[in-house]
This record gives sequence, structure tokens and C-alpha cells, in this order.
Amino acid sequence: MKRIAILGSTGSIGTQTLDIVREHPDRYEAYALTAHNNVELLIRQAREFRPEIVAIANEDHHAQLREALADLPVKVFAGAEALCDVVRMSEVDVVLTAMVGFSGLRPTIAAIEAGKDIALANKETLVVAGELITRLAVERKVSVLPVDSEHSAIFQCLVGEDGNDIDKILLTASGGPFRRHSLDELDRVTAAHALQHPNWEMGAKITIDSATMMNKGFEMIEAKWLFGIEPERIEVVVHPESIVHSAVQFADGSVKAQLGVPDMRLPIQYALSFPRRDTLGGERLDLFALRNLTFERPDFDKFDCLRIAYEAAETGGNMPCIVNAANEVANLAFRQGRIAFRDIARLIRRAMTEADFCARPDLDTYLHTDAETRRITAACI
Ligand code: NDP
Ligand code: MG
Repeated sequence: MKRIAILGSTGSIGTQTLDIVREHPDRYEAYALTAHNNVELLIRQAREFRPEIVAIANEDHHAQLREALADLPVKVFAGAEALCDVVRMSEVDVVLTAMVGFSGLRPTIAAIEAGKDIALANKETLVVAGELITRLAVERKVSVLPVDSEHSAIFQCLVGEDGNDIDKILLTASGGPFRRHSLDELDRVTAAHALQHPNWEMGAKITIDSATMMNKGFEMIEAKWLFGIEPERIEVVVHPESIVHSAVQFADGSVKAQLGVPDMRLPIQYALSFPRRDTLGGERLDLFALRNLTFERPDFDKFDCLRIAYEAAETGGNMPCIVNAANEVANLAFRQGRIAFRDIARLIRRAMTEADFCARPDLDTYLHTDAETRRITAACI
């Protein structure tokens, strides 16, 4: 029995993780559930899964949560710091990080320092502080297993390949809803358009990141840290059908890929069950029903965010942290209708020149850089 702390249990990844727990009650226990604002759903989840602990990051909801669960033997925590307390609990075996954005950084560090294995969905943590996180994970001998579908695919391709050299990683991308748009058309798109992702149903922030392709840029940085591969050897391949979830080309030219219907429950479950494969219901891949699998090069001019990510990875230091913070602020402003689609990349570029650069950041640098960049980007808006 694995006891899981699910950070962000009310989100897209969090609720699908609970689907897995529901399917395998003999293998997984939802030991702790955390949310930010969605107190109603958190209450329903607590009633169904009977966790030991629930935590709400926004303290304004503390009283409501405590009262609603008064009849259950559940501990109720509140506040951002509570997430760090939850992950340190000695009963927790694995922490599934499914909150969104920079907020994942401190609880992920707390979990690793406490020796907990990480099932990592919160890619922003690796984008911001990949060097720190991977170093800590090695020191504390914890595994960081990917939940992101592309990284799960790469990870699955690497099983049994210990010591074999990799030529390159082929990181597939759906291309998002604006793959065929001209620059003029991109200037007119709204958040409502961008929120209609062709293949995946995800939280709002990552859906916008997919439309700008910042998500793919972040995934390139995520792959660099998870697999120790330099960005020049990570090639983005636009594959609109989202059937090939990514591939690895080895030194002998052999290419291994992982395929499947788009369903996040598979990578979530594999991150929890590895090295075992548990049964999982749902649609199966039918190769005969697929008419075509197509592949094309990404358009770096149209999707400047993708180029920004490669530049930030090459610059290193706190530059990816600057890019992440500016992107979080710009992404939200676009969703609120306050800026245009292509302003997202413009604002990030501006932050890259205005925020203080640091070549050797530590945790304090990241916290400072994040706050400073948010101020700069908000002021530009
Ligand atoms: P959602 O927006 O659907 O869910 C986010 C979750 O995090 C919610 O439970 C939310 O709580 C909680 N949360 C938000 N802000 C905070 C905060 N400041 N402190 C604590 N908790 C917070 O996001 P997704 O599930 O789509 O994505 C989660 C992470 O997984 C992201 O990093 C994303 O990039 C990554 N990911 C997602 C994929 C997907 O298919 N959705 C695929 C691959 C990666 P509340 O609901 O109460 O506000
Ligand atoms: Mg992904």
C-alpha cells in the first residue's frame, strides 16, 4: 500500500490521480489532499477518500473546511506553509505534485528533503530550479518520476537502457489550437479560443501555455533535468494527433517511442506503480482506425515562447525562473483579457532584459527573482 500526498487534488491532474486511487484501493491510499480555493470539491473528496489530512492553501477557507469536516477524523491544515508540513509527514510514501506554477517549488523541496519520492506533474518546479531539485534528489536518494505524458514516454523508452548512449530526444507537441494560424490571425485570438485545446483537457494555465508553445519549451527544460540531456539534443516535433507521446533515438540509430491514446491517467499511474504496470481501463489504441500519424517542424518565429525557452536554458542561472514568473503573470493577464496573445512573449522578453540575472542562484535567489519578475511584468502590463 502506497500512501500518497496529492498536492493540487482538485485540479485536472489531481482528480485523475484520485481516479487511479479509486481503481486500485488495495494499492494506493490518498493520505493527504490539498487545494488552493476549491473548498467544495476538497470537502467532497475528503468525504469519499477519507484522508488523514486535508490542507487548503488559501487560509480564508480554513474555517469553512474545518466546519464541513468536523464529523470526520481528519486533520485540517491551512496556509501555503501547511503544504510543506503535509509532505513531511512520516506516513507519506510519495508526493504527487499537481499544483500549478511556482507555488510547487517549496513543497517539492520540503518533500525531497524529507526523503519522499516525487511523482512530478508540476513542471514549473524543474523549469525554475532544475539544478537545485536534481542535486537534492541525488543527495537524498529520492526518485523523481515524471507524470507529464512526454516525459513518461521518454522514461518508458529508457527502461532497460541503462548505460546506453542517447543521440537525441524527440519531444512531441500537438502544436496547440493555433498551429495553422498566421501572425495576423494570432493577433486576434482570445482566451476563449486558446482554451479549446484539440487533444487534451487540462487546467487553464497549461492550456494557454500549450497555445503559446511555452509548455513545450518548459517541457524541453524539464527533460534536460530529468534525463540529463542538453537542450541541443532535445528536438521538438509537432505531431498533431498526440498518439506518439515522445521518442528516444539511441547511439545505434534505433528510435524507441511510446504510443497510446491521449489519457493522462496512464502516465499518472505509471509514476505511482513503476516498475510494475497495473491494469488500467479505458480506450485502447486502434492502429487500424488511425488514418495518419503526421510530423512537422515547429515554427519558432510564430511561437517565440519556444525560442525563449531554448535561450533561457542556454543562459542558465535564474533565467528560466525569470521566464517562468513573467509567463505566469502574462498567462493570467491574457486569460483576463488584459493583454493580447502575442504580448505574452513580448512581456517575457522584456522581463529577461530587466530582471537581475544571477549565474549561480540558490533558493533565496529564486524566491527573490520570482517576486521581482512578477513586479516588473505587472508594471509593464
Ligand atoms: P489545474 O489548474 O487543473 O489544478 C491546479 C491545482 O493546484 C488545483 O488543485 C489548485 O487548487 C491547486 N493550486 C493552484 N494554485 C495553488 C497554490 N498557489 N497553492 C497551492 N495549490 C494551488 O492544473 P493542472 O492539473 O492542469 O496542472 C497541474 C500541474 O501539472 C501543472 O504544473 C501542469 O503544468 C502540470 N501538467 C498538467 C497536465 C494536464 O493534463 N492537466 C499534463 C502535464 C503536466 P484549486 O482548484 O483549489 O484552486
Ligand atoms: Mg506534456
